[in-house]
Amino acid sequence: ATPTALLVGTGRGAQLGILIKGPEVLESTRRVDTIALDKTGTVTSGRMELTDVVPAPGQDRIELLRAVGAVEGASEHPIAQAIARGCAAELAAAELRAGESGGGAQSPAELESFRNAAGEGVTGVVDGTALVVGRASLLEDRSIPVDPTMLAVKERLEHEGRTAVLAAWKGRVRGVLAVADTVKPTSAEAIRQLRRLGLEPVLLTGDSRAVAERIAEEVGIGIGGEHGGGVGGVGRVVAEVLPGEKVAAIRAMQAEGRVVAMVGDGVNDAPALARADLGLAMGSGTDAAIEAADITLIRGDLRSAADAIRLSRRTLRTIK
Ligand code: ADP
Ligand code: MG
Repeated sequence: ATPTALLVGTGRGAQLGILIKGPEVLESTRRVDTIALDKTGTVTSGRMELTDVVPAPGQDRIELLRAVGAVEGASEHPIAQAIARGCAAELAAAELRAGESGGGAQSPAELESFRNAAGEGVTGVVDGTALVVGRASLLEDRSIPVDPTMLAVKERLEHEGRTAVLAAWKGRVRGVLAVADTVKPTSAEAIRQLRRLGLEPVLLTGDSRAVAERIAEEVGIGIGGEHGGGVGGVGRVVAEVLPGEKVAAIRAMQAEGRVVAMVGDGVNDAPALARADLGLAMGSGTDAAIEAADITLIRGDLRSAADAIRLSRRTLRTIK
């Protein structure tokens, strides 16, 4: 083995925006046969927009927008940012209308505390009221019942391919808000390339099954795969997983004798990236993901994952 060849490989990698942690990483790229892909921010752009605000019966819309906007404004999560932006825009428009009809200006809602529940949502205190915004599991943890009417609204939005979250305070669901995300234009091509390298793709997400299935179909995950669309007991789409369960999904694939690569961007992906035989972090992602990964993809483009594996394998052949 000549260290020079390795340097050439990693130098070329740097040109392509691929940072490889150390020479021991190369060997893993040769063995991987399965690739788990995080959805939000990895396969999709993560640039979401607020598409729907549905207040619960009897709930004032402006009050909902102010409360949810304040708590989500404190989070860096793409869902939170989209919700905060959307709420602010609608509030500004409402204020303009109120001004025209002689109404007074609204004072901004005051956020007194904030906590991020990774992969589940956010909690905080706004104007003295404790707020929960996120998936149903987060509300259930706090014994807040999700009434059938609001659950039906959430499910309808999800069947349309949107990510819907619940907002609750004082023990009741106060509204459903939905955001829509778009698949990166390069993701489908990236998945074709990964297949050609002999990797079976699996979509791994905390989002709902309805959204996950739709995105998987759009990018061609599970189509024409050697296992007829399934990765053993795991399946081609693993949805509604909690952050800790992403690790369990990787373990389950490894238990079937698979050698698993994982691509992710979020704080909640970090343990799975560390557990995978080869962890790849999106450079646009969180520091936690980048630290846990073996390879960082500077470009926010999933094709870089295929480039990284191809380049590493080529470098290995050169030094052997
Ligand atoms: P992915 O695994 O696709 O990257 P995440 O694990 O980041 O997605 O999020 C999983 C789910 O948790 C989201 O689909 C959403 O329902 C909920 N969630 C996460 N962050 C927030 C937030 N800031 N506000 C509301 N809901 C959130
Ligand atoms: Mg993500």
